Amino acid sequence: MSNKCNIIKDILPLYAEDMASQDTRDFVDEHLKHCAGCQAKLRQIKQSVDFEPDGNTLPLKKLKKKLRTKRIQTIMFTVTLAFVILVSLFAVLTSPQYFPYSDNLLTVSDNMNGSITIFFDEKVTGYSCSKGIDIDTGVEVYYIDAWNTIWDLLFSKREKQNMVVDTADKKGIQVYYAQNNDAVDVPIYGARVSDNEGRKTLPRLVLGWYFFWALGAFIVLLVARLLLTILFKKKSNVVIWLDRLALLPASYVLAHLLTKGINFPTYSLQRDFSMIVLAAILIYCAMLSGISLYRARKTQ
Ligand SMILES: [Zn+2]
Repeated sequence: MSNKCNIIKDILPLYAEDMASQDTRDFVDEHLKHCAGCQAKLRQIKQSVDFEPDGNTLPLKKLKKKLRTKRIQTIMFTVTLAFVILVSLFAVLTSPQYFPYSDNLLTVSDNMNGSITIFFDEKVTGYSCSKGIDIDTGVEVYYIDAWNTIWDLLFSKREKQNMVVDTADKKGIQVYYAQNNDAVDVPIYGARVSDNEGRKTLPRLVLGWYFFWALGAFIVLLVARLLLTILFKKKSNVVIWLDRLALLPASYVLAHLLTKGINFPTYSLQRDFSMIVLAAILIYCAMLSGISLYRARKTQ
């Protein structure tokens, strides 16, 4: 290989990429006519440019991938956060507002076939009915409550509600209106069952227990995490898992506060609990994606 070949070799990459000046191109062309070694070298360079990404494109690909991951994380975080807000808002708007008893709230009428129909006033948009049997007399006892919601007032088409209670082949029937406001249940139909006089429908308190259990679990996990980070200065995997675990009860506590505020007693346990669990799952996802997004920003 001549001295000239070494010079050509230095400028071949520029030549191959069309980045050399016209003078340089002419000089290289002239040399290539007679030099098989440099021709081979040029083919080699062109191949490597065309077919395999050389070392320089890899960091670019990594950066692109990183940016894409970050974009997905941002979208995930925004979407889950939006759902948290929507579900909480929905829970608040659809929370039942129970009516206290009044004369025009409902009317009861006997039907030909022995059943009874309860007609609710048009302001009632929902009702529920629970059934029990008086142990002493065998009389069936029904407890009915009625409500509306902000959601129904705003969006739903009002239709008069009514319900039918079948009384055929029964030893007797007693229907009460449960006021759900710490006032006594009001008898609205049937023979009185003396034991039920002055009975109140009590709220369920279990959501309060769940709330404080979750709060307790969160505090315990938080303390355990702090102790671990003090003991082993370096952040271990255990700590990362503890963080993720501690977020579960934290999500539940937040979900309760968002959907029910600081109210714990409930007359609609199933509904309230489902809303809290749904919101908690969404909050948990939002917190996880929020944290990974925050970490990605910090390490950049
Ligand atoms: Zn040469």
